[in-house]
Amino acid sequence: MIIDAHTHLKAEPGYLERLIDAEKSIGADKFITFGAGPSGEWASNAEVLAAAEKYPDMIIPFAYVTLGQATPRRIDEYARQGFQGFKFINPVTPYSDLFNMRIYARIEELGLPVYFHTGIVASLGTEKRFDIDTSRHKIIHLDRLLRRFKGLVVFAAHLGNPDYGEAGMLTRWYPNLYCDLSGSTLKKKSPEFIREILWWNESPQRTAGAAEEPGGFVLGNYSNDPLGRGPWEKIVFGTDVAPEKVAEVKADYDNLITRLELPGRLRRAVFGQTVAAALGLASPSE
Ligand SMILES: [Zn+2]
Repeated sequence: MIIDAHTHLKAEPGYLERLIDAEKSIGADKFITFGAGPSGEWASNAEVLAAAEKYPDMIIPFAYVTLGQATPRRIDEYARQGFQGFKFINPVTPYSDLFNMRIYARIEELGLPVYFHTGIVASLGTEKRFDIDTSRHKIIHLDRLLRRFKGLVVFAAHLGNPDYGEAGMLTRWYPNLYCDLSGSTLKKKSPEFIREILWWNESPQRTAGAAEEPGGFVLGNYSNDPLGRGPWEKIVFGTDVAPEKVAEVKADYDNLITRLELPGRLRRAVFGQTVAAALGLASPSE
């Protein structure tokens, strides 16, 4: 099973069909999608929901929410409408702001997942129209909510770029945190660099384990995960690109996994099984 955990829907005509085709071309069974807001080029929440109603087997719709403006009541409404999670970017204050905790609390009660943009926010020339500030998106700001809301499934985009060290440590400590590798990281950083960030995959028994697993990994030795999962069971496949580039990002993930000689079960975890389990989707046939 392949699930693309990170896609955006644009409002432009034909975009949805191109995205569907692109995801099918890489063998994706499902994908999570959202409008990014607040700029006009992205689909509205209503358009995201309409897309999911058109392709219910394929699309997992997340509602975009502006933290600092949305109320718990609004969160309830989105859940009632059929959204299966929430996407956050461009919050009014940092993710860790006390004011946001009531939103996370409500979402945790609803049993729905959240997707945070983390790290640098692209500079696209909209700065003057919108109050955007990268520092509010720093991945370390997730620490406060991860400590409080142990039942909240949290996805962090971009491995916190450029705060990789903090992303790695948060992922190690919090069983409910998952990261995707979308953005420039997969393009510009080597597989070895990414493995180093996720260092607790390694163990002194690396060679001894080689017989069972091609990469020789013995997993979970330095993990704090109650399920004994290693870091590659916390990394998820997400593309975050235009439909025309989806296959290229899939190839980048394939290359990373091949270069690091991750065993097949971890390849399957990254490409879909971890997300399926986190979202409580039906157990994939593979
Ligand atoms: Zn994105």
